[in-house]
Amino acid sequence: MSLHLTQSREAPALAVTDDVLGVDLGIVNLATDSDGQTFSGVQIHVVRTRYHLRRQRLQKVNTQNAKRRLRKNADKECRFQREVNHGISKTLIAKAAVSCKALALEDLSGIRERTTVRHEQRYERHSWAFFQLRQYITYKAAWAGIPVHLVDPRNTSRTCSHCGHCAKANRKSQAEFLCQRCGVALNADVNAAINISRKQWAAVNRPMASALAG
Ligand SMILES: [Zn+2]
Repeated sequence: MSLHLTQSREAPALAVTDDVLGVDLGIVNLATDSDGQTFSGVQIHVVRTRYHLRRQRLQKVNTQNAKRRLRKNADKECRFQREVNHGISKTLIAKAAVSCKALALEDLSGIRERTTVRHEQRYERHSWAFFQLRQYITYKAAWAGIPVHLVDPRNTSRTCSHCGHCAKANRKSQAEFLCQRCGVALNADVNAAINISRKQWAAVNRPMASALAG
């Protein structure tokens, strides 16, 4: 899957300000940025479920024809996912470029600690599609000369982006954030993305190295 990422190209130097566009990657919303724009995963889940059911059906039929259709099915699913991820990453990079902002993502190694999602979602969060979106953002940013800061993911989702209060109770549900101190109510992913945009970065992604590491 990452073979086509191995091409190298010199990143042009782009003058970025100190401003950072934070991006929270997730399941319900595939991506949410600190400006409040969300890229919903609903459509993806509908389509992937359809592919999944078709796969189950075809696997029961042990014929050459079924096998061929299984392969075709898998190819189509890949292509669909790739297009979605290209679209989201393109939009985010264009946004950062236009506003001369750097990007910030959570450091990948921390994602496991952070999530308290159901089992099947956890599987999805670690699936290739999730990593592919990260990769696309990373390499497109490199090509555009936009730095990608990696931040410590700890407490991103439970800290109030308004007053800084950190508590588990702030996170009312998957979608809602309600600060127990200052009372601010926000979409939980937007709150997380804002926090990501403000965190001290632990590392700046080295463009090609990071694309290859995935
Ligand atoms: Zn607060």
